[in-house]
Amino acid sequence: MAIRNFYPELCTGCGNCVAACPMDVLRLDEEQNKAVVRYPQDCVACWGCESFCPQGCFDVSPERARGEMVSPY
Ligand code: SF4
Ligand code: SF4
Repeated sequence: MAIRNFYPELCTGCGNCVAACPMDVLRLDEEQNKAVVRYPQDCVACWGCESFCPQGCFDVSPERARGEMVSPY
């Protein structure tokens, strides 16, 4: 799993990470108004979520998953 840590208590539900993820890993829980890491196995460590989250909710591994897609971020 390339997302090492996720801190939902910091999340304000802005949706930036969901929009930024090229692999559709993340979802917005509209009842809780928080992001959810729904499909962690699909993460390719592109750092899009970490880069675009204004709250610092994500800690993504510095190593990419070998042989996986590289995103434009
Ligand atoms: S690191 Fe990239 S692929 Fe992984 S959850 Fe974040 S935006 Fe999606
Ligand atoms: S970008 Fe950060 S604050 Fe915004 S929904 Fe995603 S985790 Fe929450």
